[in-house]
Amino acid sequence: SKPIVAIVGRPNVGKSTLFNALAGEKISIVKDYPGVTRDRIYADVTWLDNQFTMIDTGGIEPESKDLMLSHMRQQAQIAIDTADVILFIVDVRQGLVDADYKVADMLRKSAKPVILVVNKVDNFDKFMPDVYEFYNLGIGDPVPVSGASRLGIGDMLDEVINHF
Ligand code: GDP
Ligand code: MG
Repeated sequence: SKPIVAIVGRPNVGKSTLFNALAGEKISIVKDYPGVTRDRIYADVTWLDNQFTMIDTGGIEPESKDLMLSHMRQQAQIAIDTADVILFIVDVRQGLVDADYKVADMLRKSAKPVILVVNKVDNFDKFMPDVYEFYNLGIGDPVPVSGASRLGIGDMLDEVINHF
C-alpha cells in the first residue's frame, strides 16, 4: 500500500493551507469518534511518479492553551503511529514557541523520519534569516515553504519521497 505522510504542528501554522495546496480536490474527512478531536483529513498525492496518502492530523483544533497542548500530543502520536514520513510544520512569522519544542521532543524520540517545514516564508529574501532559528529544535535542516504562495513545495516533496 501507499506510504503515509502526516502533517503535524500547532494551530494556525498553516497545516490545512499546505494540505489543500497539495491535495487538489481529492480530500476525504475521516472521523474516528463524533465530537472528539481525532478527525483526520486524507488525500492522495502524486509527486514525480510517487504516490502517497497525506493526512492533516489537525482536524478541528481547540482554542484553549491547555487543550491545545493535549491535542498536539494526540496529533503527534497519531503521526508517529501511522505515518512513514512526518511533516512538522512551524511558522516563521510567529517564530519558535514552547509548544513547538514539546512536539519536537516527541517526534525526535520516535524512529520516524521527520521533515521540519518552516511555513509562511512568502518571500525567501526577506524571511530566510528568520528560518535559521528553527535549527534549535534539533530536527535537522529547516525547509522553507509558503503554502499560501506555493513556494518551496517542490523541494519539500523531493525530501518526502527521498524517505520512501
Ligand atoms: P492550521 O490551523 O495549521 O491548519 O492553519 P491554516 O491553514 O488554517 O492557516 C492559518 C492561517 O495562516 C490562515 O489565516 C492562513 O491564511 C494563514 N496562512 C497559511 N499559510 C500561509 C502562508 O504560507 N503564508 C501566510 N502569510 N499565511 C499563511
Ligand atoms: Mg487546520
